[in-house]
Amino acid sequence: MVRRRIRARGIVQGVGFRPFVYRIAREHGLAGWVANSPAGVTVEVEGDAASVGRFLDSFRREAPALAQIDEMAVEDLAAAGDTEFVIRESGGADAEFVLVPPDIATCAECRGDFTDPANRRYLYPFTNCTNCGPRYTIIEDIPYDRPFTTMSVFPMCAECQREYEDPGDRRFHAQPNACPVCGPRLDVPLEEVRGLLRAGQIIAIKGLGGFHLACNAEDDAAVRRLRERKRRSDKPFALMAWDLAEVERVCLVSEDERAVLTGARRPIVILDRRPGTGISEAVAPGNNTIGVMLPYTPLHHLLFGDGLNILVMTSGNISEEPIVSRNEEAPARLGGIADAYLTHNRGIRTRVDDSVVRVYAGRERVIRRSRGFAPLAIDLGMPVRQVLAVGAELKNTFCLTKDHYAIPSQHIGDLENFETLEFFEETLEHMRRFFRVEPVAVAHDLHPGYLSTRIAQGMSGIPRVGVQHHHAHIAACMAENHLREKVIGVAFDGTGYGTDGQVWGGEFLVCDFAGFERRGHFRYVPMAGGDQAIREPWRMALAWLRETFGGAVPELPFLAAIPERRRAVVEAMLAGGVQIVATSSCGRLFDAVAAMLGLRLETNFEGQAAIELEAVAAPGVHEPYPFEVDGAAIDLRPVIARIAGELRQGVPGPVIAARFHETIAAIAVEVCGRIRAADRLERVCLSGGTFQNRRLAERCLDSLVCHGFEVYLHAQVPPNDGGISLGQAVIASNAA
Ligand code: ZN
Ligand code: ZN
Ligand code: FE
Repeated sequence: MVRRRIRARGIVQGVGFRPFVYRIAREHGLAGWVANSPAGVTVEVEGDAASVGRFLDSFRREAPALAQIDEMAVEDLAAAGDTEFVIRESGGADAEFVLVPPDIATCAECRGDFTDPANRRYLYPFTNCTNCGPRYTIIEDIPYDRPFTTMSVFPMCAECQREYEDPGDRRFHAQPNACPVCGPRLDVPLEEVRGLLRAGQIIAIKGLGGFHLACNAEDDAAVRRLRERKRRSDKPFALMAWDLAEVERVCLVSEDERAVLTGARRPIVILDRRPGTGISEAVAPGNNTIGVMLPYTPLHHLLFGDGLNILVMTSGNISEEPIVSRNEEAPARLGGIADAYLTHNRGIRTRVDDSVVRVYAGRERVIRRSRGFAPLAIDLGMPVRQVLAVGAELKNTFCLTKDHYAIPSQHIGDLENFETLEFFEETLEHMRRFFRVEPVAVAHDLHPGYLSTRIAQGMSGIPRVGVQHHHAHIAACMAENHLREKVIGVAFDGTGYGTDGQVWGGEFLVCDFAGFERRGHFRYVPMAGGDQAIREPWRMALAWLRETFGGAVPELPFLAAIPERRRAVVEAMLAGGVQIVATSSCGRLFDAVAAMLGLRLETNFEGQAAIELEAVAAPGVHEPYPFEVDGAAIDLRPVIARIAGELRQGVPGPVIAARFHETIAAIAVEVCGRIRAADRLERVCLSGGTFQNRRLAERCLDSLVCHGFEVYLHAQVPPNDGGISLGQAVIASNAA
């Protein structure tokens, strides 16, 4: 007889791990027990040596699909003479480290339950089990047990209790287990809600991590009304489709995209849309891609039918404020937008938006990391000190580190208003408690005006580490790819505060976690009126043309669309150097080219012009424009000159857009080649918001690989500023 204790760490709670252990222990005829601990799961098994060996084998190999074992320790104990195997109640919280599970989309078996007229959960919108359902959004504290969730106010009925206590049941210890008798309820019958949606109304629907604003995506008038009321002039709305067939009706879906759409995380997937599908043009004006997700809770599944196949499902907020999650705040904040409400009485402890991903360069790439991902830890493959990194300003996330992990927060949003700041602070407080992190340093961006920087400065008694924006971008890419040694970092980005006080964004770094050298950058151009130049790409086009041609700017067609007085003001600024910031931004260069092509002279959201430039780029065009590299400065004036010439010759915009993308990829190859020759570095990390552009990312990747580089992209955190906090965290953690 032997007895072993196994301690497993990772994602082992809330994913059906204890019933799994129970089952395999019995299969192998072993006695002992299994329990959740704050650090994961602890098991003791007793039996003959061969059976214990087979048990350990199964333990490693057959773990539930949603489980993730990061660490497993086995020790020998003296036999205790146990005769049966039991599941023990969870122990109390101590100072150890546990990973909290993210929310998981409804599983196929649960879907079977609530669509089966004979099942006691028929049409019940809060059906869940050990393999699916709410987790992070309802957890108040750890260990993850029902009394520490927002389900604590729903005592289980006898039938649910029986399932909960039966190790052979799929709902054994499913903490949010519920049924129509004992569980949460909707306040309006679903039939009525479907009727309102069919009638063209906008409904605020309380879901898993907050409210959505929903309307029928095929009802053009409804979508336009939503757009007007939400004051979101052009930013695309996400869609939720009834099933995969409906997604395929409106979009082109690859095999990989299908897997992501139907996976347990159910993010919004950015897909190429098909023309002429009946989806309102107002869903994503000027865009040839569209974000679509499949239902991820029973409530969402049950919204469809009766002629409703595809819904707009956009975050329930006003412009850039955080998503609304409490019933009582909904009327005040969404009253001007929604015609009606669908709420329920299950509390949302933590607000979590839908995640957004795009599939390219062979895998899923996260663009917005929220539901289904947060608060999953990212294994860094190295020990780290405990730090807090507060992130950037736009698309903010923060990040905690501990042990071997980085734990990024869910998407917080643009830190530009009081509500978002509050969301930041409440989430930070919550996550620090969950993960028991006591930061020894706080990392922040160098930009003195970022609210996140000011949050860090307001924390007394803790050392601060300022991290340059693009160093953080590249460090984030290094961290998730487990790179420690020096790399070449290519940061193509919109805006980031440089160490010279200028706006950086077309950067070639040589860096590791300890520091960086700026080895190349796009030649500076003036941004007339600072941030106004972000909203008005024509200002960047004019600046580039003046840099290229001096006073003799060629009269390209787009200039005719700019009112003379406004142009004169900007020309004066550029000529006099008044209200000017210098920028090396790649994002602003994309803006300038989009404006030159007449695609977009003014934007409603950051990156809009660049998205449209990608959208029009013709396939199969591979010839770059000439450019010059002068020391550290990459001179793009020859590119602008050629584009201006081709525009005058009548070369089609899509061809120019394609050649421009090729040019940026060619620049990456050229500059990385020079750095490789000087420093013998072969590894290249690509990061920055511009790499959300699939065409650019794929062309840079392919060209660099062709030239013998080892190239790393983001997958787990966004290349945009949502990934900044991870980079800041590893840099600060590495600092002495
Ligand atoms: Zn389930
Ligand atoms: Zn019940
Ligand atoms: Fe950035």
